[in-house]
Amino acid sequence: MDYKELANLIFPTVKEISYYEEKYPERQLPEGAIVTRFAPSPTGFVHIGGLYQALVAKIVVQKTGGVFFLRVEDTDQKREVENGVTGIVNSLKDFDILQDEGMYTDSEEKGKYGPYKQSLRKEIYQAYAKYMIEQGKAYPCFCTQEEVDEMRKKQEEAKVRPGYYGVWAKCRNHTIEEMAEKIKNGEPYIIRFKSPGREDRKIKHKDVIKGNVDFPENDQDIVIIKADGLPTYHFAHAVDDHLMRTTHVIRSDEWLSSVPLHLQLFHEMGFKAPKYAHISPIMKNDNGGKRKLSKRKDPEAAVSYYKKEGIPSTAVKEYLLNIANSTFENWRRANPDKKMEEFEFQLNKMSVSGALFDMVKLLDIGKTVISKMTAGDVYKEALIWAKEYDTELEEMLENKEYALKVFGIERGNKKPRKDIAKWSDVKENIGYMYDEKFYNKEQEYPYQPAIDNKEDIEKILKLYIEKYYNENDNKQEWFDKIKALAIELGYAGEVKEFKANPEKYKAHVGDVSTVIRVALTSRTNTPDMYEIMQVLGKEKITKRLEKAIEKLK
Ligand code: GLU
Repeated sequence: MDYKELANLIFPTVKEISYYEEKYPERQLPEGAIVTRFAPSPTGFVHIGGLYQALVAKIVVQKTGGVFFLRVEDTDQKREVENGVTGIVNSLKDFDILQDEGMYTDSEEKGKYGPYKQSLRKEIYQAYAKYMIEQGKAYPCFCTQEEVDEMRKKQEEAKVRPGYYGVWAKCRNHTIEEMAEKIKNGEPYIIRFKSPGREDRKIKHKDVIKGNVDFPENDQDIVIIKADGLPTYHFAHAVDDHLMRTTHVIRSDEWLSSVPLHLQLFHEMGFKAPKYAHISPIMKNDNGGKRKLSKRKDPEAAVSYYKKEGIPSTAVKEYLLNIANSTFENWRRANPDKKMEEFEFQLNKMSVSGALFDMVKLLDIGKTVISKMTAGDVYKEALIWAKEYDTELEEMLENKEYALKVFGIERGNKKPRKDIAKWSDVKENIGYMYDEKFYNKEQEYPYQPAIDNKEDIEKILKLYIEKYYNENDNKQEWFDKIKALAIELGYAGEVKEFKANPEKYKAHVGDVSTVIRVALTSRTNTPDMYEIMQVLGKEKITKRLEKAIEKLK
């Protein structure tokens, strides 16, 4: 009996690998085009680190005219959840990271290199496993779980490396006849790779991100086909990324230590290995130490968090680009109005160690992103968010014309307002522009330290409505009137003047206008008051000022 017959005994019906090699030819793409993938398990959950990977992959593909595909790695069926793929695809869509091919829902796919779901590729893996057995590079292993556990225990006692290798790899030494005999007797088995490696030899690997790394060769006879007939991650990775003609494997650096094994698998199967780019994780400060953002402990680890909070997806992406290439920040400063896609992203300039996640910075980017939007876009995005997460805000936005005016305050000019970081800020941010919200809230008494007695405040407010307020004033007139009001009541008409002669005045024009501002908005700090008053209109203004006066009594 020879290996070929053994292989036939194990996989009698699978196709020759030449069939697949022809079915999935080299891709016809421009020189330098990168083909890469995002390869999640169908858990429905996308970690911010996963989004980071997908974003990087998408960018390099776009820059080179390549292909970005979505492959679902469901060989560990314990991790699967219902509609898990659709959930992942939708999360990526929220960030406008669209695949060129691959899975689109749990059951639909597009592209010529499929199936893109590993559980549907069983025969393909088996064809390649058969090919390996034929060449004596893989073999059936009959060890039971108990035997493997027992072996591990012995290795621990003897203080040697754990694993199935060298002298410990019991089944690699069976003769072909012994193997055939066991199979015919119905003994259960799995398929192992017969590693030609030696631990005392080194390999050199040049990672696109991590640079040159040395590793000992792999010498483990790892499992390639499990008892359920499905492949392990390692084997599926080699077969899939070969057949899908992946040029670059961009993945988390938790896989870096598997590179010696993966390169060996590619080599033994006679495939050209892809380039590897291992991405460092996103970290978090925790009690003085650094750790990876954790799905279990940190809500911000889930990409769904950003959607729920209403942090604009472009802000999240921009923030991730900041982490990815340290040159991005300067580029952004020099090119505030360019699209982030125009940035010359460099995969090989990504940081080798994990960056700290900085929510403050992300929200700051959110403010900038929103400040550059038109009132119409702010309205649109805030409404989309409100429809899903906040019915009260949705109701507030019902009057579109008014909302557009509210969002138009200090927007579209050279220095637009930068006070909204995320859509969930909007309600609080614009609440005072709506009577329902304004009167609902405990009214702040229009008091402020510089003018701290009710009589003076009442005088300001009264005189303002009776004599000075005119809805048709332009900004200059409006301002001059507040100044005149201040002077009439004995306040300094200029801040400068007040500072030069503080003993001469009770307070200055700025303090007077703050009294009006608080009466109108319940806030000491707002965007431009003239614009606010234009939007509120005479009726609301008069009522608010009158109510404030009443409150003083
Ligand atoms: N399914 C693997 C994971 O989620 C993919 C790793 C890879 O990109 O190769 O970690």
